[in-house]
Amino acid sequence: MSEIKARDKAFVADTYARFDVAITSGIGSELYDENDKRYIDMGSGIGVTAFGTADVEWVKAVSEQLMRVQHTSNLYYTEPCGRLAELLCKKTGMAKVFFGNSGAEANECAIKIARKYGSEKKGSEYSTIVTLENSFHGRTLTTLAATGQEHYHELFQPLTPGFVHTPANDFDAMCETVKNNKVCGILIECIQGEGGVNVLDKEFVQKTAALARENDILLMIDEVQTGNGRTGEMYAYMNYGITPDVVSTAKGLGGGLPIGACLMSEKVEKVLGHGDHGSTFGGNPIACAGAVSVVERIDEKLLADVKAKSEYIFTALSGAKGIEKVVGMGLMIGIKTVRAASDIVKECNEKGVLCLTAKDKVRLLPALNIPMDILKEAVEVIKEVASKEI
Ligand SMILES: *Cc1c(COP(=O)(O)O)cnc(C)c1O
Repeated sequence: MSEIKARDKAFVADTYARFDVAITSGIGSELYDENDKRYIDMGSGIGVTAFGTADVEWVKAVSEQLMRVQHTSNLYYTEPCGRLAELLCKKTGMAKVFFGNSGAEANECAIKIARKYGSEKKGSEYSTIVTLENSFHGRTLTTLAATGQEHYHELFQPLTPGFVHTPANDFDAMCETVKNNKVCGILIECIQGEGGVNVLDKEFVQKTAALARENDILLMIDEVQTGNGRTGEMYAYMNYGITPDVVSTAKGLGGGLPIGACLMSEKVEKVLGHGDHGSTFGGNPIACAGAVSVVERIDEKLLADVKAKSEYIFTALSGAKGIEKVVGMGLMIGIKTVRAASDIVKECNEKGVLCLTAKDKVRLLPALNIPMDILKEAVEVIKEVASKEI
């Protein structure tokens, strides 16, 4: 075992089943390990490096800010934080943004908004948040409670109370859940990422949005994985023709540095006031400067490219030998293979293509700007590996 791996095994908490790969450098959608073996990056650090590794524009934005000032705390104004918030509001029509450092924190903020909104509008007993079965909203005790997967809950009781889960794409069940609980918010992913790249039905999402509006319940969309161009729109909800009250996002937003954002519509922009919420690192100027360089480049042309590359992947893999189906949207793709997804991913790694899994599927989240020739090379490897007999 190499020194990098041995030291990590000896001293880093054993909470991750790492792949047998130590990345030491990279450029764009290509990564290199300690022996200079090349990998095509089809996971982009779980959808984080939106423009690839060591992307020139991102590095420039980050390093210029780094030389200027790296941190001030939220006691003072800094330029990148305001610029990023302005960009996000202009691209979505939302009114205000709160910055944290991760997806879980973005969701925590959304949950606090819903709880305070419900309490002020209808009374403190209106504190329940509805989420979907098979969802994933984070690892803090509250976002774990929001996550609709029992196996994550078992060992960590008691979790934050006030969360109920209902099946995805079952609007009758959603209505029952809302009727039987004192609900302040509904939190959903339009495409369940960790849950297996399950694309929600348009009808279910639209009816749920209407139900929320009729009952003065906040509609909150978790765009931590689906956001920032990933699905071929700025945010995945834009594929659904709905207007959320709250949007949480993270992962690809920062392009590689930790950042989370909770976007608030005009209806809720004043719910949290001075002292109601905060974060020491939130809105960090370096993370925000990097995010500005990401968000500025998510334009019509890039989104059209994302859609074109998505179509290429769907066409190339659908019906291929050993592949049962291809699901997803944009460059968030799930592949149901005949052989176990974990075996496919392991063999792809060995052949120099880094892919992810999501439940029983192989999951692809390449950089939004992955060059077509590299994408083709990766798809050929995935096809070859998937086609092998059991
Ligand atoms: C990754 C993810 C989270 C958690 O984000 P962290 O940055 O790991 O806290 C929350 N929701 C969704 C949909 C995610 O994919």
